[in-house]
Amino acid sequence: VTHNREGLAVKRILLVEDNPQNRYLVTYLLERHGYELQVAEDGEQALAMLETDAPDLILMDMQLPRIDGYEATRRIKADERFRRIPLIALTAHSMRGDETRARDAGCDEFITKPVDTDGLIDLIARLLDT
Ligand code: MN
Repeated sequence: VTHNREGLAVKRILLVEDNPQNRYLVTYLLERHGYELQVAEDGEQALAMLETDAPDLILMDMQLPRIDGYEATRRIKADERFRRIPLIALTAHSMRGDETRARDAGCDEFITKPVDTDGLIDLIARLLDT
């Protein structure tokens, strides 16, 4: 556990995103707000990372190669060890059906790309109580 200057434990976020530019932007944004980032490039990698080091929150792109975000979310939420980790779904589609699909997979919150950065930071702060 890493501690910040106030001696508080730094919250860790697992970002699952296959697009390098989005990975860079979200990582930059969240680190600037004092969070520690773990990054996975697809659902398979995310599931493997959870086994070794569970984060405080998961930010999951839904459109991913290999194991997509819907399937990864279903597996995470079916696992007693990980189901209580807050999970925010990110999707490129703004259609209502995608939100329903993401919620059916078990995501706790839902954000549409392009990401409203202030909204994302507020949401994460609320879920992590930071
Ligand atoms: Mn994607």
